[in-house]
Amino acid sequence: MDKRVAVVTGANRGIGFEICRQLGRRDGIRVVPTARDGTRGNAAAGKLRDEGLDVEFHPLDVASESSVETFAAWLEATCKRCDILVNNAGVMLDPRGSRVLDSKVKTYRDTLATNLIGPLLLIQALAPLMKRNGYGRIVNVSSGQGQLSDMGAGTPAYRVSKTALNALTRTLAAELRGSGILVNAMCPGWVRTDMGGTGAPRTVAQGADTAVWLATLPDDGPNGGFFRDRKPIPW
Ligand code: NAP
Repeated sequence: MDKRVAVVTGANRGIGFEICRQLGRRDGIRVVPTARDGTRGNAAAGKLRDEGLDVEFHPLDVASESSVETFAAWLEATCKRCDILVNNAGVMLDPRGSRVLDSKVKTYRDTLATNLIGPLLLIQALAPLMKRNGYGRIVNVSSGQGQLSDMGAGTPAYRVSKTALNALTRTLAAELRGSGILVNAMCPGWVRTDMGGTGAPRTVAQGADTAVWLATLPDDGPNGGFFRDRKPIPW
């Protein structure tokens, strides 16, 4: 009952699945992997359970307000707490070669719904549970493509969504300073997943490492930072 409860979004594959595995291997953490597809999510959770990890799956579409509400009510009723939230679910919907001048507004709306509004809805739903215990770790899985200091052309909707997620991270971290809740963003690097593609140099284990480190920070850990490989990077 005293285990910390860690919620991870987009956990049926890729970096999210690996974050669940690495968190579950830590002592004293019960992992709640979530995914928008119940069948795929349950199958992924089953794999983690087969590895001996303490996991409890629940469906969650981060782009749906009602899905977030249903999930938060279930979490409160079942686990009665939330200690860690990893906003990992993400989409890159820009067509190949897309540029701002020829991109569709719908691509931005759909991308922001998952990459920005999803994390916002979950934070609003779950931070109150963290506040109750004066403890929380919120990790927003961002991207180097959202760095204003290194902004380039291409994948415009994705870039805008990750820059916005970074701004949300900073604003929330300032708002929650001193509450016991630490809020940080991270970039996993270029990772071999369905999104990253087969040519990416990093494994999912490498991509997940910094998120897990931020999810398990000590009380005097950083707040409001942006990290890759456990080191601060420019916004
Ligand atoms: P991935 O393999 O494409 O997995 C994305 C995950 O997000 C899937 O589980 C997907 O579920 C889920 N998802 C998408 N929309 C969702 C929604 N509305 N509700 C719930 N889940 C949803 O991508 P990945 O490489 O593991 O990426 C994970 C995170 O890392 C993303 O935020 C991404 O932007 C970030 N990132 C990745 C890289 C990289 O090189 N791979 C680099 C920088 C940042 P379905 O299976 O149902 O689609």
